[in-house]
Amino acid sequence: MSGDFLALAQPGVQQLSPYVPGKPVDELARELDLDPAMIVKLASNENPLGASPKALEAIRAELAELTRYPDGNGFALKSLLAEQCAVQLDQVTLGNGSNDILELVARAYLAPGLNAVFSEHAFAVYPIVTQAVGAQARVVPAKDWGHDLPAMLEAIDSNTRVVFIANPNNPTGTWFGVDALNEFLQDVPEHVLVVLDEAYIEYAEGGELPDGLEFLSAYPNLLVSRTFSKAYGLAALRVGYGLSTAVVADVLNRVRQPFNVNSLALAAACAALKDTDYLAQSRRLNEVGMQQLQDGFRELGLGWIASKGNFIALDLGQVAAPVYQGLLREGVIVRPVANYGMPNHLRITIGLPAENTRLLEALTKVLARG
Ligand SMILES: *Cc1c(COP(=O)(O)O)cnc(C)c1O
Repeated sequence: MSGDFLALAQPGVQQLSPYVPGKPVDELARELDLDPAMIVKLASNENPLGASPKALEAIRAELAELTRYPDGNGFALKSLLAEQCAVQLDQVTLGNGSNDILELVARAYLAPGLNAVFSEHAFAVYPIVTQAVGAQARVVPAKDWGHDLPAMLEAIDSNTRVVFIANPNNPTGTWFGVDALNEFLQDVPEHVLVVLDEAYIEYAEGGELPDGLEFLSAYPNLLVSRTFSKAYGLAALRVGYGLSTAVVADVLNRVRQPFNVNSLALAAACAALKDTDYLAQSRRLNEVGMQQLQDGFRELGLGWIASKGNFIALDLGQVAAPVYQGLLREGVIVRPVANYGMPNHLRITIGLPAENTRLLEALTKVLARG
């Protein structure tokens, strides 16, 4: 038997493309011989504020215990989350980033012969976790770049076990409101687990976006996933969480790696959760930066997709790859999204005011060159 280990991979894996992250600063610095300090990275929806000083302090305090395994049950963090989210402790699942939660869902509920439904232009991790377990990805065409929830309902069949919806969605920034979510949840068959990915929910002002937590008690087939990677500024530590019924949490706990969240991440997340000033500052900075970028795009005569995240998809009206390359040469890293079916767009993370200015200046220069 031939040892073609690509052909031997299970079919769903053969059809996958690896996740493409934003270009790291050091990589660009190496490639173009630039000073890393001069590079602006607006490519991975990271919090430009830097981590909360309280989170850093908590990490330092935890260093003395590095020789010990972390608390595999994450009691302290789960307790804080349960209190803040008004759920019971046994409804909380902690993940190595919220991507881990998505993967736990796939491993527990999907298999060959079963399928997951999600939207075109949705988060790249949904196809990865779905196909990794040999399940079928049912991709529903988007509507005005956003989720077409009625069409997604239609795509559900008796073999569907999971629907992934992101609100707001990444990379489009599009969102749906309370009524749309309510109607959707009412009509989703009871055997389908709805994963409502709220990675950016902390950026929303009150009432702009539905709060998934408010639907948990009415819908036992709902799981809400959230993360400390974005508004809480802890992307490097990898910590996120899922909120669901205790039954679903118990199932996810069975397939979870015993120590999936490390001790520094647990300590930092607890501190970050209590640092409400940091969160408010993140939100304010995002609002100001979003306005700054939109004003700049308008002056350049460029369009964009309205966004409720900490990022915005800029529409260049032409293939965006050369502009992406031009920006790199100016020391500005943004995110190409052709692999999301959006070849004319670039996804730009909202940065500090000075970083946004650098982006706009670089963009002006690159576009002028033609
Ligand atoms: C960034 C992001 C996540 C979070 O990933 P982590 O694993 O928590 O860092 C989840 N979903 C979406 C849609 C995202 O954009």
